[in-house]
Amino acid sequence: MTTSTKPVPDITQENRPFFEAAKRRELFVQRCGACGVLRFPAREICSACLSSRREWVKVSGRGEVFSFNVMHQLYHPGFASEVPYAVVVIKLAEGPKMNSNLLGVPPQEIRVGMPVRVVFEDLTDEVTLPKFAPA
Ligand code: ZN
Repeated sequence: MTTSTKPVPDITQENRPFFEAAKRRELFVQRCGACGVLRFPAREICSACLSSRREWVKVSGRGEVFSFNVMHQLYHPGFASEVPYAVVVIKLAEGPKMNSNLLGVPPQEIRVGMPVRVVFEDLTDEVTLPKFAPA
């Protein structure tokens, strides 16, 4: 059994399709069932048209660094061995933005606009997280 010293996301009825897809090494986002807008994270109501109709769709996993910040302060002991580390906002090729980490790139070398692709990291037996690596 794989456990994590880091905080683990709660799997809820609303976000379960996202985590099931990640376990299969696929990246899913929600799509509004009325106007078709893609969104992440999961929400009950579309912020564009207020419809509650929604479905999950697979996206390419390609994108670029939209923004990032470097964490020098330790806020959780599970990250002690990684400080300083970057929290990166990825703008997916399909539009939605996703907070994640960029693997294999030292924080001082991260640049806005860097092309990235999704990779997957098993956090526990149940939870796999999408991370990103240079494309
Ligand atoms: Zn909508």
